[in-house]
Amino acid sequence: MSGRVYLVGSGPGGLGLLTFRAREVIDSADVILYDQLPGEEVLATLPRSAELIDCGKFGSMHTLEQEDIEALMVRHAREGKKVVRLKGGDPFLFGRGGEEMEALRAEGIPYEVVPGITSAIAVPECVGIPVTHRTVASQVTILTGHEDPTKTQSALDWEWLARSPGTLVILMGVKNLTTIASNLISHGMDGATPVAIIERGLRPDQRVTVGPISEIGDTARERNVRPPAIIVIGAVVELYREPG
Ligand code: SAH
Repeated sequence: MSGRVYLVGSGPGGLGLLTFRAREVIDSADVILYDQLPGEEVLATLPRSAELIDCGKFGSMHTLEQEDIEALMVRHAREGKKVVRLKGGDPFLFGRGGEEMEALRAEGIPYEVVPGITSAIAVPECVGIPVTHRTVASQVTILTGHEDPTKTQSALDWEWLARSPGTLVILMGVKNLTTIASNLISHGMDGATPVAIIERGLRPDQRVTVGPISEIGDTARERNVRPPAIIVIGAVVELYREPG
């Protein structure tokens, strides 16, 4: 009898944004494979009755390779266990959840996906930035800033991104921010376009940095901006207000 794997999104941070279904499957799991992105508040509530495996995947530092994680999920499920793979935000947005689902399908392991609230929308939202707005932004593009923007064969269409109306939301973009900004400007984006960087959104030490795209790389360096952070580019950033 095979067990089952749950690909679970934890939301962007904090217990308030963990779904009911996520709580339910976490609390009844035999094995939980997690990384640090769900944040301390959620990780502190993982049940001690479960075997907890820290996949240690944070930014570019991996303690377990992707194949190891997939092999562990499969092995434990074959032992008849209830396995939770816990991921930050939503499991299918840049979380490699899609790949993990494919691995489970290939091995014939039953699985369930538990959607989570994605940081791409919730983190800007929590500082008053709606990613769409009827009069300001009718479309939003969510992209990874993780790929090396200087590589000749980019999977991203910079020309299209620079000229598309609406909002750009960039995940995993802190390291490449200066190159991303100059790429967008050189492909036609107005240098005055406002940018917000929200570090550790919805966590106690959340911090916001705002500036025009022409200066944001320098500003981020001066302020020592660090991942995890969400970068929002576009007119909706004008709606940002200091809380209080
Ligand atoms: N599946 C996740 C994203 C995984 S990629 C989701 O839906 O949210 C990891 C990136 O997500 C980070 O580099 C960062 O850009 C972003 N991120 C996730 N949680 C965040 C948070 N609480 N604050 C800021 N950025 C966050």
